[in-house]
Amino acid sequence: MTKKPVITVIGSINMDLVTIASRFPSQGETILGEAFHLVPGGKGANQAVAAARLGAEVHIIGAVGTDAFGTELLRSLEREGVHIDNVKQVTHRGTGIASITISEQDNRIIVVPGANHALRPDDVEQCEKIIASSNVCVLQLEIPLSVVERAVFLAKKHGVRVILNPAPAHPLPQKLIEQVDFLTPNEHEREILFQQVDANAFADKVIVTEGARGVTIRKGGKQMLIPSFRVPVVDTTGAGDTFNGALAVALSKGMSLEDACRFANAAAALSVTKLGAQGGMPTEGEVERFLK
Ligand code: ATP
Repeated sequence: MTKKPVITVIGSINMDLVTIASRFPSQGETILGEAFHLVPGGKGANQAVAAARLGAEVHIIGAVGTDAFGTELLRSLEREGVHIDNVKQVTHRGTGIASITISEQDNRIIVVPGANHALRPDDVEQCEKIIASSNVCVLQLEIPLSVVERAVFLAKKHGVRVILNPAPAHPLPQKLIEQVDFLTPNEHEREILFQQVDANAFADKVIVTEGARGVTIRKGGKQMLIPSFRVPVVDTTGAGDTFNGALAVALSKGMSLEDACRFANAAAALSVTKLGAQGGMPTEGEVERFLK
C-alpha cells in the first residue's frame, strides 16, 4: 500500500447557524423563519474534511471553546478521520460561529471568530513536528495573521509546501507572499491581496478560482485556464474549500500543478452537486470515477 499523503491544516473551526426564511425582516420587525440547521463549518475545518475524504492523513491545528458547539465540532472532525490532538479548547472564548440567513433573494452572514482568534503563534510552535512531517500545509485567513505567519515560517524551515487560501479577503505583507508556494484567491480576493504588493512578481504562484469557469494559473509566462466540469448545481457553498483540500492532496501525491488543478476542479465540481459545504465533499473514489 502506498503511504497516505500527510496534510496539516492550520485554520478556523466554526459552527454555522443557518436560518432559512422567505425574506429578511425589516428594521425592528420579527418574522417566522422556515427552518434552522446547525452545520459544521469554518474554512480550516472544511478544507481539512475535504482532504480527509480524499484519502489523506489530515491534522488540524485550531481552537474551539469548551461549549457544546466546540465539543460537537471536535466529534464531527473525528468522525471524518481528521486528527484533532492539536485543537485547543479555550475557556475564555466561545467556539467560532457563522450566523447565516438564507432567503429567496440573498444570503446574509455574520461571523463571530471567538476561539479562532485565541489561537497563538506559540500553539503552532508546539506543533513543529507535525508541520515538519507534512507533505503540504494549508492555511486561510480566519485565524490571526501572526499565527499564519509563524506556521508558514515553520513549514518553510522544514521544506514543506504551503498553500495559502487568502480568504476572507485581506491585503498580505510581501514577505508572507514570498514564502508561500501557492495562493488560491477568487477574483475578488486577488484584487485585495495585492493592494500593497506587485501582483506580477508573484503571478507564478497564484491560482485564481473563477467559479464555474475553473481556475487560471500562469505557465511559461502565459495565463492558462484550467476549465471546470459542467455539472448540475445544487449548492456552491464550500466549493472553494473543496478545491483547496483537493489541491493539497493532489500536490502531495506529486501531481504537476496543472494536473492537481484539474483534480481539484473535479472534486469541487462534485461538491456543488450536493447540499452543504462539508456535506457535498466527494471521496477519492468518487473523483476517480468522475475523471475516468
Ligand atoms: P466559496 O467561497 O463558495 O467556497 P470561492 O469563491 O472561494 O467559493 P469559487 O471560485 O466560486 O471559489 O469556486 C472554487 C472552485 O470550485 C472553482 O474554481 C471550480 O473548480 C469549482 N466550482 C465552483 N462553482 C462551480 C460550478 N458551478 N460548477 C463547477 N465547478 C464549480
